[in-house]
Amino acid sequence: MAKHIYCHIPFCAAKCPYCDFYSEAGRDSECVSRLIEAMCREISSYKADDVISTIYIGGGTPSFIDPAHIARLLDTIRGRFTAAEDCEITIEVNPSSLTEDKALKYKAAGVNRVSVGVQSLHDKHLATLGRLHDASKAIDCINILKETGFGNISADLIIAVPGQSTDDALEDLNTLAGMGVKHISTYSLSIEHGTPFFARYGDTIEDLVPPEEERRMYHTLRSELERLGYIPYEISNSCRPGYESRHNSSYWEGEEYYGIGAGAHGYVDGIRYAHPDDIDSYIGDPFTTETEEVMDEDSAMHEYPFLKLRTSEGVDLKAFAERFGREFTDVFGEIVRENVNKGLLTAGGGHVRLTDKGIDWSNAVMSGFL
Ligand code: SF4
Repeated sequence: MAKHIYCHIPFCAAKCPYCDFYSEAGRDSECVSRLIEAMCREISSYKADDVISTIYIGGGTPSFIDPAHIARLLDTIRGRFTAAEDCEITIEVNPSSLTEDKALKYKAAGVNRVSVGVQSLHDKHLATLGRLHDASKAIDCINILKETGFGNISADLIIAVPGQSTDDALEDLNTLAGMGVKHISTYSLSIEHGTPFFARYGDTIEDLVPPEEERRMYHTLRSELERLGYIPYEISNSCRPGYESRHNSSYWEGEEYYGIGAGAHGYVDGIRYAHPDDIDSYIGDPFTTETEEVMDEDSAMHEYPFLKLRTSEGVDLKAFAERFGREFTDVFGEIVRENVNKGLLTAGGGHVRLTDKGIDWSNAVMSGFL
């Protein structure tokens, strides 16, 4: 089976106050070069007979660093593995650091999909989120990518920001759709422990954005995306037909991927692992990993519905039986019945899926299968 590669670029121009991804601000260019060198050493250590069907360069902020580093990573991957002819190669970019020159260099390096951290097209919400760009920068960024010839552009939006109305978010969707963006992700703002937002909003977020209001906004936007011709193929992701993120879809299929770089997670040869969140230790030894879980057949079978229920396809009963040699209903019949009775799952046509109400309780429903 083909595999996938995720490269983590753990650098940002500044830390956004809501972010709990592993990245650091304030590192110099020498540190960046040493980290890329270490990532290339890691890539070169893997066995070369895998065919790679998707590569995702995420972060952090990949567009913050010199694009020559991105080209070097991709060259190293292609030198070590066989990249499939239709390999999807995605890079995440921020409007504050993308330039025309960088876009051209990504294209020359073989990148064929760009995910833009738009977050909002309203300056006041971008200011609340502590982002470095304003709405016009985000629009410029998408235009630069289009002019460079990128046809497969994705945009991330954050919803349920304090002070944001549903109309503001609807306006953002319509602008992005009008610009020809092929894929839109909408993530509700979550207040994570240890972030500046936790200190600012930890006690008040539910008063500022009541959970039922956040849910209403989510479902209104999902319907609007459908009206605009986007298919909501996963809880937070919608796209024009044929523009699903193949890389992210591989996670929901439970496929294996190499996780390259400090803070990256991977899943290879049945083992889920993580590199420590530490740039300096990674530079010193890019092979150190912490094993998170050995995925035996039983764990994989329980994880399968946990992952697949995120998607609008849900669990395909035939595919499950082919993969695990058991009927889904023999293994999970009781939990499916319970959730169907509560209106959280629907079963029919050879699939088990979350209902709209089930989406609102997705964490609890999906965890029940583990
Ligand atoms: S740019 Fe992205 S990764 Fe960097 S701090 Fe902001 S949200 Fe986090």
